[in-house]
Amino acid sequence: MEFPRRGVMLVLASPSGAGKSSISRSLFGQDPNIKLSVSITTRPRRTDEIEGKHYYFVDVPTFERMREDGELLEWARVHDNYYATPRAKVEEELASGNDILFDIDYQGTLQLYEKCRDDMVTVFILPPSIKELRARLERRAQDSRGTIERRLKNARIEMDHYDEYDYVIVNEDLENSVQRVRSILAAARLQRRRLSHLDRFVKGLQDQIDSI
Ligand code: GDP
Ligand code: ADP
Ligand code: 5GP
Repeated sequence: MEFPRRGVMLVLASPSGAGKSSISRSLFGQDPNIKLSVSITTRPRRTDEIEGKHYYFVDVPTFERMREDGELLEWARVHDNYYATPRAKVEEELASGNDILFDIDYQGTLQLYEKCRDDMVTVFILPPSIKELRARLERRAQDSRGTIERRLKNARIEMDHYDEYDYVIVNEDLENSVQRVRSILAAARLQRRRLSHLDRFVKGLQDQIDSI
């Protein structure tokens, strides 16, 4: 049986190219209770990206207005662009018991931690090797050579933060990594602090004992 529960904020972080988008996509396709937090970004849209699905693409003045109006749960500057998490959808989904997946960098994770610690579970994804990381970035073929080099350099900084996360996964085989994240989420969903009506349930069990 299932208790009503508050949703899990599942944060997946990794150096660019380690596979968090692939893992998110797969998880998301398998489980209707998982919603994706769609970030806003000021970076240009890639050809395969869909407005409102991968990101909401906004200009810098719009980003600044949203930030000033308190519409952002967190924001960060990554690879010379701004990225941020809009607040409203997150609060709505958590309250209705849906889990939300976040693909955000470590700066964003830290900010979320300050505000939403009890709701969060964080997973850091590593590539099996740098040779493979570079190959994946090149295979994705969405970014210019300069961008790929910058992302590789940035990977080093991002990796410094692995020890701030609850779980670490080396993404060698994609299906296996997805399975691991599913296990983490399954456990998080059962954490006592997320479950409502437990007092009443346990009291009911005790009453049954008392009446034996
Ligand atoms: P990818 O990592 O190569 O797929 O590149 P993206 O452009 O999708 O993401 C760039 C960086 O921004 C990644 O480190 C993300 O984790 C981070 N990011 C994406 N969305 C958010 C967000 O809403 N908040 C924060 N703080 N970081 C985000
Ligand atoms: P990120 O979101 O971390 O930047 P992506 O999910 O976009 O990374 O993955 C980068 C590239 O590597 C994509 O082309 C993706 O298909 C590929 N990829 C992801 N995970 C694996 C894996 N386990 N094995 C091989 N290729 C992978
Ligand atoms: P990309 O430009 O490849 O889509 O993303 C670059 C980085 O920005 C990734 O590491 C991604 O996790 C991060 N990022 C994406 N969206 C957000 C966001 O809303 N907030 C923060 N802080 N980082 C984000």
